[in-house]
Amino acid sequence: MLSGKIALITGASRGIGRQCALTLAGYGAEVIINYNGSKEMALKTVEEIQSHGGKAHAVQFSVADFQSGQDAIVNLLEQFGRIDILVNNAGITKDNLILKMSENDFNNVLQVNLSGSFYMIKHLYKHFLKQRSGRIINISSVSGVMGNAGQANYAASKAGIIGLTKSVAKELASRNITVNAIAPGYIDTDMTGAMSESAKESVMQQIPLKRVGTGMDIAEMVAFLCSEKASYITGQVISVDGGMHI
Ligand code: NAP
Repeated sequence: MLSGKIALITGASRGIGRQCALTLAGYGAEVIINYNGSKEMALKTVEEIQSHGGKAHAVQFSVADFQSGQDAIVNLLEQFGRIDILVNNAGITKDNLILKMSENDFNNVLQVNLSGSFYMIKHLYKHFLKQRSGRIINISSVSGVMGNAGQANYAASKAGIIGLTKSVAKELASRNITVNAIAPGYIDTDMTGAMSESAKESVMQQIPLKRVGTGMDIAEMVAFLCSEKASYITGQVISVDGGMHI
């Protein structure tokens, strides 16, 4: 489904991003696994893909650092000649009620989740325009759709990603580039593993399908949106949340 395509996935050392890398590689894409701090995990993911006959590479940079991201993209384009798919997945949380949320915790989350996604799109923008094709998938969140007490910074960054997605979709549609967002619900990763047992139970009550999502649930939607089958879909926010936001 994706053979011949080169996909860059941010934050692919762990969790949803890692599963996206494995899944896209399984569909034949050559994947570039970006990581920030988890070098060993990123290299393990590369090895896993290679052991199944796939092509994968790891590249370190923080999406929140404009210059590092730009330098990395210039190098990658020199090395590979093209990038067809960008999955803006890297993300962090620093949850707290506003009463206790520091200015830094608000700004850091916005910087990684929202500015980081904008930076990556900007770094690849001219390349996609020239190529007259491309797929951009931005990972938003059910929190960005519904809001969530204790996550004002995170929800604002993820709602921002939805506005970013729709705007860039309008800018790039005439060049055959689609831009979509996925809003995952509660997915079993390190990010949700950090939640208290009572918070997890309360989230479970809100999921009509009565199960926690997996990285695979999200990765299969990413793969579909990257494929030719999704060529008439752009500017959309697809919820993969077990019905959480109904
Ligand atoms: P995770 O397990 O905590 O993994 C986060 C990933 O992001 C790691 O690979 C991490 O890389 C990377 N990352 C963090 N800061 C980075 C930076 N500055 N530059 C580059 N990479 C960075 O999280 P996850 O649950 O898989 O979440 C992935 C995405 O899905 C996030 O955008 C998250 O907001 C979104 N999401 C998750 C859920 C959920 O329930 N899990 C729900 C809705 C949306 P290193 O380890 O290398 O630093």
